[in-house]
Amino acid sequence: MPQARTAPRRTRARLIFGDLWEFDPAPETADPRLKPRYDLFIDGRFVRPRSGRYFDSINPANERKLAEIALAGPADVDAAYAAAAGAFRSWAATPGLERGKYLFRIARLLQDRAREFAVAETMDGGKPIRESRDFDVPMAAAHFFYHAGWADKLEYVAPGHTVAPLGVVGQVIPWNFPLLMLAWKLAPALAMGNCVVLKPAETTSITALKLAEVLQDAGLPPGVVNLVTGAGGTGALVTGHPGAAKVAFTGSTQVGKAIMRQLAGTDRRMSMELGGKAANIVFDDAPIGQAVEGIVDGIFFNQGHVCCAGSRLLVQEGVADEVVSKLKDRIRVLRVGDPLDKNTDLGAINSSAQLATIRRLVASGLREGASMFQPPCRLPERGFYFPPTLFTNVTQSHRIAREEIFGPVLSILTFRTVDEAIEKANNTAYGLSAGVWTDKGSRILRMSTELKAGVVWANTFNRFDPSSPFGGYKESGFGREGGRQGLLDYARRA
Ligand code: NDP
Repeated sequence: MPQARTAPRRTRARLIFGDLWEFDPAPETADPRLKPRYDLFIDGRFVRPRSGRYFDSINPANERKLAEIALAGPADVDAAYAAAAGAFRSWAATPGLERGKYLFRIARLLQDRAREFAVAETMDGGKPIRESRDFDVPMAAAHFFYHAGWADKLEYVAPGHTVAPLGVVGQVIPWNFPLLMLAWKLAPALAMGNCVVLKPAETTSITALKLAEVLQDAGLPPGVVNLVTGAGGTGALVTGHPGAAKVAFTGSTQVGKAIMRQLAGTDRRMSMELGGKAANIVFDDAPIGQAVEGIVDGIFFNQGHVCCAGSRLLVQEGVADEVVSKLKDRIRVLRVGDPLDKNTDLGAINSSAQLATIRRLVASGLREGASMFQPPCRLPERGFYFPPTLFTNVTQSHRIAREEIFGPVLSILTFRTVDEAIEKANNTAYGLSAGVWTDKGSRILRMSTELKAGVVWANTFNRFDPSSPFGGYKESGFGREGGRQGLLDYARRA
């Protein structure tokens, strides 16, 4: 009798890219038109700081100096507030239709210089050119376009109420999306008729100062926008200034709390866009391949320097091995390196200080017993880089599951039931964003109701639109940016 033949086992061929072969370098070549030195932008002009001091801005990809940036002291911040107060009456009285024209002009001028801004943003902050070119700059322009559209329709923004601007607004922004955060702050404030004193982050001031050139080209009246550069000390001068009718802050929860203490007992309005530790939740009926792409985008976009990054992956036990194995395959082919190369997926960490923070938290993960996976990858010798990193065997008490790492590091936990997923996802001091991957519509509705997060993405992650309000719960802050709600945060209602 012929023997039963077992079919030969076929192993599926695996595509390996990684370091097997080199891509030709594909550098973005647009000229970023950087100046060797940037002064403060006050009352429509670039002016030398009264402090007389400058600091260096370096390229985190190679540690080379890009430019000198003025360091604003108390007299400079006073001058910026005086210019803004001087411009306020006339700007607030300018018809909305006319204010909108300025915003349209700013958006178009930014689009005209999009490549130049993208290269400057990448050199200053370290993010891949693919992201600054296809996300940061177009989204910044989109915010100006969106709010330009509102400027002549403000009587419809709060039906049954009249709205009026607040006055001079003090704004402070972080380094992870320098131009985009600037647009999130400026566009609604200006559309509503406020004037602004804004401080960009110390390590990423250049695109804000380049935008000041755009404001000049757009003919924006002097004093409507004033930019004061410097470190945290300058930030505290901006947020604590008595001339501010409102303080709008985006940054860490720790600094947000310090500002709230600083302003306690004053009548200053505040909005706080703070940190996050988002749960990205994958159920066993999810389209796994698609979810893996969403997980990768959720944590490795902008090297994980994203407030709403999906930094805590919660996977249902039945598919955990499959998800982790696919994730490992996927991150083996991520390319880490020169941010100006169009092939690069992960660029440079923004600063040596941030790199030290990431290393410290990763070391704590190892110490506390989690298992780490990093694909083999060659990092450039100069500059600040960190490989994409996964942690399994993570428990909820581990620091890497509780604290914002703000780097390309994913902590993976598992769950069995929907209730457990909700409980674990909400077991955090933060509440900025979350993701849900499942085939079931009713489960999406339940999760989006029960997750305490300002944004819940379903079967996608990191989707943004200027018309969609963004903001947090709990220690992720209060107030919204974007949409009608964001605009109203810059208005007095009667
Ligand atoms: P920081 O809070 O350290 O800094 C934010 C800004 O505040 C910077 O411009 C900083 O200046 C300035 N600053 C520092 N100290 C003070 C102070 N005492 N008073 C006033 N201003 C001060 O945050 P990072 O720049 O490190 O940004 C990362 C954080 O921002 C993360 O926690 C992230 O989650 C959060 N973020 C939140 C977003 C949201 O929409 N919820 C969006 C993007 C980021 P300098 O840089 O010079 O120190």
